Amino acid sequence: MQLAARPRLREVLAKPLAGDDLTGAEALALLEASELLPALLETAAAQRDRVWGRVVTYSPKVFLPVTNLCRDRCTYCTFRKDPGDPDAWTMSPEEIHVWATRGRALGCMEALMCLGDKPELAYPSYRTLLADLGHRTTAEYVFQACEIALNGGLLPHTNAGLLTADEMTRLKAVNVSLGLMLENVSPRLRGRGQVHQWAPDKEPALRLRMLREAGELQIPFTTGLLIGIGETLAERVETLVAIRDLHRTYGHIQEVIVQNFRAKPTIRAADLAEPSATDLARTVAIARLILDPEVSVQAPPNLSPADHALLLAAGLNDWGGISPLTPDYVNPEAPWPHVAALAATCRAAGYTLRERLAIYPAYIDRPGYLAPALRARVQALVATDGGGPMGESLSEGHP
Ligand code: SF4
Repeated sequence: MQLAARPRLREVLAKPLAGDDLTGAEALALLEASELLPALLETAAAQRDRVWGRVVTYSPKVFLPVTNLCRDRCTYCTFRKDPGDPDAWTMSPEEIHVWATRGRALGCMEALMCLGDKPELAYPSYRTLLADLGHRTTAEYVFQACEIALNGGLLPHTNAGLLTADEMTRLKAVNVSLGLMLENVSPRLRGRGQVHQWAPDKEPALRLRMLREAGELQIPFTTGLLIGIGETLAERVETLVAIRDLHRTYGHIQEVIVQNFRAKPTIRAADLAEPSATDLARTVAIARLILDPEVSVQAPPNLSPADHALLLAAGLNDWGGISPLTPDYVNPEAPWPHVAALAATCRAAGYTLRERLAIYPAYIDRPGYLAPALRARVQALVATDGGGPMGESLSEGHP
């Protein structure tokens, strides 16, 4: 958009509230117009209030990092390990059972299966371990892990990296939703010296294909963008527009995470600058205004501990998973907020914090989305905790 057109940006801001789409060029101009930041946040907050009301949600979860082996090497990642590393692990079925049971006892409702991408393609020792467990692939083992979590009273949500349509079809039977961060649609980030140079599973075309196939399979889906990894503002907007287009075609995107890169001293991408609070807030706001209003917009509260009020003011309606039991294994240096403190921040801004399930209410009764075998389990949790007021058991159990 030309500079001469910037005075028109206030008119452009009115479009989403009137039900009209922002074009990519308009969204980019809004992101760049620092003088319009207060108006951008205000408009996004108004859009959130219009559709989501004065309720902000989170999912009480237990984080089950089934394995931290991964065949990719994203340069910002401290989660992945190689076999032989003293910090490498693959959880046993018994460990999954123990942690799932403990999590449920503390009020968790979601079992987040979050793990490295297809380590069996890279490591013979891991293939042997899988075979000893009776499996050929990680996806097969995750299926078993989900069954264990279900038996422990939790609802699984799996993010295991790239999955085939067949793998997703199978996992749909034991997951209420699946996830894959799109991160960014720019193939440039796979280039030499970029964060995804050594991460074949971060090829945007492959991730877009999985998101499409999940839509065809009617799987409630979580995706999102990672900001601060060398992308341009235009590439952020392109990523959000791609997610909007996918949701328009299939209707399966239940939530979009806006995750900010956090620098860590040991990563190869240590020279990347962390996005500022303002940068994160404007991106949450533009996500709220680009995406269809019924798509939940989320930012992880542990990655911006000082900025919860700002994120609420930017139009966020969900904080994602928060655990009373397990750390954020991907960002272990960033503790979860105390739920009672987060609830107080929400209350001060005029919002009520509530628990939610790993499947959003709109998808529970939408034909084809929730596997029939999971319906009774979901309804049991809706009747007890899910969608109710902030869980006292969780807030008291949280460190
Ligand atoms: S971010 Fe995910 S895909 Fe990339 S190296 Fe880490 S675990 Fe593997």
